[in-house]
Amino acid sequence: MSASPLIIDGRAVSARILSECKTRAARLAAERGRPPGLAVVLVGDDPASRAYVRSKDRTCRELGFHSVKHELPATISQTELLDIVARLNADPQVDGILVQSPLPKPLDESAVVHAIDPTKDVDGFHPVNVAKLALGDESGFVPCTPLGCQRLLVESGTPISGAHVVVLGRSLIVGKSLALLLMQKGAAADATVTVAHSRSRDLPALCRSADIVVAAIGRAHFVRAEHVREGATVIDVGINRIDDPADPRGYRLVGDVAYDEVAPRCRAITPVPGGVGPMTIAMLMSNTLKAFEQRP
Ligand code: NDP
Repeated sequence: MSASPLIIDGRAVSARILSECKTRAARLAAERGRPPGLAVVLVGDDPASRAYVRSKDRTCRELGFHSVKHELPATISQTELLDIVARLNADPQVDGILVQSPLPKPLDESAVVHAIDPTKDVDGFHPVNVAKLALGDESGFVPCTPLGCQRLLVESGTPISGAHVVVLGRSLIVGKSLALLLMQKGAAADATVTVAHSRSRDLPALCRSADIVVAAIGRAHFVRAEHVREGATVIDVGINRIDDPADPRGYRLVGDVAYDEVAPRCRAITPVPGGVGPMTIAMLMSNTLKAFEQRP
């Protein structure tokens, strides 16, 4: 296989999607007399969550969306948090609601997700939206990271219909939802999907049988050359911190794929950073626009 695979540029694709969202938002806002609105709820002071919420708020403003940000102390009670969700459900300016995960203990994250109006659940974690994905009902919301992975496969010209996809990881946020998405009937889907996890046997052989390998397990450099057959496409969802004294931060971010040894075998591959990561926010904005469009 060629030693120069297509490196799938998630930053460029994300920038293009966000620019399209901005144009669509302006057109819809003119028609409806108000912009699309996204509410983001942050509880506690986890630095990574705070950074995600800041970036979502900034992107909303750049796109001309109405942005509502609730930054709440970790001491907030379950009842108070549910009250805020209920107010956002009822707010006509708000089309999408996102409660940043993880919630500090002892808050019940599942109860909070269940309380969000499914028509505003732009994260796609409410049971109604999970069911719609399983049923192939396109009115529902699909979680943003799997949507981003699917879009990168399309953008890289990777054939999906009939392809064997091995997804490593079975979380709802990534692996399970991506499997449901790619096995659906229709465009950018129709794949034969195998979902693997920590109990799966002989992962190298399983992955070598795949046309597309998606790694979403959270283990640095887990996927090696022995996992990937020549000409496969590899999507690396993992974001892992490893110590790096040469980096001013003392660490750097790497994926689940040992990029240097895997890339030469691939037809196409996503880097980390700059692959799947930037897609998540683009798909969040796209889901918020969809919620706005679907609102009567
Ligand atoms: P979870 O911890 O929820 O799930 C990890 C999955 O990987 C589980 O299904 C687990 O199996 C499986 N797994 C763990 N170790 C192994 C192993 N040795 N062999 C095979 N399977 C294994 O993680 P998430 O799905 O939330 O996230 C996965 C990665 O993706 C993380 O690095 C995360 O940071 C990243 N991520 C990136 C996003 C982005 O925007 N790019 C968004 C979301 C996540 P089991 O079920 O058996 O325990």
